[in-house]
Amino acid sequence: MNVFDYIEKNKDRYIDFWVNICKLEGNSHNKSDVNSVVDYIEKFAVSEGFSCTRYSFDNAADYIVIDANPDSEKGHIYIAHSDTVFDKGSFGDEAVKISGDKIYGPGVIDCKGGIAVALLSMKALCENGYNKHLRLIITSDEEVDNSLAKSEGIDIIKTMSAGFKSAFCCEVGKEGEILVARSGIIRLTIEVKGKAAHSGIAYFDGVNAIEEASQKIIRIQKSSEKDGITYSCNLITGGERINIVAPKCSFQVDIRVKCAEDKEKALSVVKEIVNTDYTGGTHSTFNIDSERMPMEKTNGNIALFEIIKEVGHKYQIEKIDNYCTSGGGSDAAYSVIAGVPTVCGIGTTGDFCHTTKEYADIDSLEKRAKLISQTILSSSPR
Ligand SMILES: [Zn+2]
Repeated sequence: MNVFDYIEKNKDRYIDFWVNICKLEGNSHNKSDVNSVVDYIEKFAVSEGFSCTRYSFDNAADYIVIDANPDSEKGHIYIAHSDTVFDKGSFGDEAVKISGDKIYGPGVIDCKGGIAVALLSMKALCENGYNKHLRLIITSDEEVDNSLAKSEGIDIIKTMSAGFKSAFCCEVGKEGEILVARSGIIRLTIEVKGKAAHSGIAYFDGVNAIEEASQKIIRIQKSSEKDGITYSCNLITGGERINIVAPKCSFQVDIRVKCAEDKEKALSVVKEIVNTDYTGGTHSTFNIDSERMPMEKTNGNIALFEIIKEVGHKYQIEKIDNYCTSGGGSDAAYSVIAGVPTVCGIGTTGDFCHTTKEYADIDSLEKRAKLISQTILSSSPR
């Protein structure tokens, strides 16, 4: 059957699937909830004729890899994630609501709509006789920068992507916008130690760690460059009592980088500021809490974008003009590192992800599934 016809005739089944996986919620840290989502996805995928492989970890819920035509030549991959940022119950008793042309609920665009898009596209292609290997990789800790499955999880994304012709990361979409690059993220904690003293009787015997932290924060913040590395000190805690010269202070920094070399540069800036004692008598250390590599802008990503743009216009699916980049990170970083031309933000469209106002446009399931499927047909004809 024609791919577009299949998508139009079968989208309702996929909307039900989409609603059901959102109802199961699944905060990244709640392993059993996220595994329930993965169980549901597996059951559905098997019933659609796909084969599934699960990977388990000590702290993260399972990653699942869903394959179609696994014995054939490598075709294309899809990437999505099964976890959300929300604690259970954040959306009330009835977590998912459909109203008019929108669906509201935890993870509807981030990223469960993307899972539905990917599976519908895979199924439509198979029903159309597409016979190359298609694969969907679903991670379970994307929202916490793969910090639960750690390098073991990241290695799975890289290994499972390697050798495929292109990758579609079905993350949160915006009408007309497809991403070819994303920032990398480094999060670190800086601890400053000073010396406690009575703030009235022995003021000059103390060394104020908050004062030292302030000196460092201003310098770190000011190292930010527009269109370059940005440093954002967003959390701070310090001191003991109002009448004690503060003996300790710690703060956290969120750093965004555009390429792998930026990471070294950013860390050397931080190191220099951490190791300098501006107040006199302080000692400071830093620890990297988590890091995510950037999705670098490659020629392959841009070439893939051009095909998508052309398909969008030619088949009147979506008007896409110029490629976009984002300051947020995603798992697309790792398919790019594996050498696969990748685009991101090609899941369902909507708005307000990471807030309880999150919604998705229901018709974007059909649009984006068509856009990806036709891009695959146009870029690797049978
Ligand atoms: Zn997210």
